Amino acid sequence: MSRREDVVVIGAGIIGCAVSRELARRGAAVRMFEARTVGAGATQASAGMLAPYIEGHARGTLFELGLRSLAMYDEFLRTVSEDSELMVEYRRCGTLEVATDAASAERLRGMAEGEPLLQWLDRGEARSREAALATSIEGAVLAPGHGYVAVPPLMDALAWSALRHGVQIEAAHRVTGVRVDGAGVTITTDDGTSWSAGRAVIAAGSWAGFLEVNDPAAASVRPVRGQLLRLHWRGTPLSHIVWGPDCYVVPWQDRTVLVGATVEDVGFDERTTAAGVRDLLDAACELLPETWRATFIEARVGLRPATPDGLPFIGASTLSDRVIYATGHYRNGVLLAPLTASLIADLIIDGHEDPALAALRPGR
Ligand SMILES: Cc1cc2nc3c(=O)[nH]c(=O)nc-3n(C[C@H](O)[C@H](O)[C@H](O)COP(=O)(O)OP(=O)(O)OC[C@H]3O[C@@H](n4cnc5c(N)ncnc54)[C@H](O)[C@@H]3O)c2cc1C
Repeated sequence: MSRREDVVVIGAGIIGCAVSRELARRGAAVRMFEARTVGAGATQASAGMLAPYIEGHARGTLFELGLRSLAMYDEFLRTVSEDSELMVEYRRCGTLEVATDAASAERLRGMAEGEPLLQWLDRGEARSREAALATSIEGAVLAPGHGYVAVPPLMDALAWSALRHGVQIEAAHRVTGVRVDGAGVTITTDDGTSWSAGRAVIAAGSWAGFLEVNDPAAASVRPVRGQLLRLHWRGTPLSHIVWGPDCYVVPWQDRTVLVGATVEDVGFDERTTAAGVRDLLDAACELLPETWRATFIEARVGLRPATPDGLPFIGASTLSDRVIYATGHYRNGVLLAPLTASLIADLIIDGHEDPALAALRPGR
């Protein structure tokens, strides 16, 4: 890079924060705009699971991206904690993906076969590793490399790390428009202020389509609501993330658990519902009957940014290479944050287009 870049990043969810921090770490001057507060979008509702073998059952591009990003997580967490001087709960405790009937047992056993990083466990083996599992289960696939990160503390640490690297954070500033002009871009915010920069990165999650950039790619991001519960666990201690057909349970070290998540097509409605809470509790009780003994802490809700083919939009807009998208991470934004940050920084700082970006092109 021959000169210090100026980049504006729109949106301070996990993607905007990770991208801003990485750009600043590599020498760019970055200003990040957030309509609400840092991490207040889909990110605050996330379960923080890092589970590419479950999310990428189809073993395609998403799976490859997930594996790549997971491999970056130890170093990502180490440097974020070091920069911020904040500890973040992060455990590679493994997942147990549970088969509850013969058909799912056959499918999951087949998936684990020939895959050295997965192990099929019959009912007895699965229950010997996780005694709280229902006696009715057929078995489970163990993925020992999977894990989770506690997202609220991660966001605090990430924001501090970004600040330490010089990122300017403009909270409560909604960006209304992005205009490409001769030397770069000009953005306007809802208080009528304009800001100029060399490039703009759109990390506005589900709301990317509201920005006036006239880019058809942005408009095809849509919100998919997810509700998630936090409970105080009072049963047999859990040592893995447990994933069933209708819910998953993530055990934190303070004996709280996260139970997620609904998948609902309800537009931009960010409310929790009685039906969502009931469905999650029913599903968790079926998988782990001792859920009945848990006490209720809270229900969270977030809008996952989804694209038509389920892959994120990462790369230059169809209009201009000065406007770059980093959105549409749907169910995997936490997992994919380190990789996304690195791909965007490679592109902006080094002018290097990673081959993975070919499948992630906005407007594809
Ligand atoms: C219930 C639930 C569970 C999940 N579990 C997992 C999981 O276990 N693992 C995983 O990897 N992922 C998970 N996800 C998905 C993950 O949370 C998302 O993929 C991720 O948070 C997306 O991050 P983001 O930064 O793109 O979007 P967001 O977090 O939504 O951030 C976008 C930000 O942009 C801001 N913004 C929007 N428009 C503007 C504007 N015009 N100007 C300024 N700011 C703007 C918003 O206010 C928001 O803060 C889960 C999601 C949900 C809802």
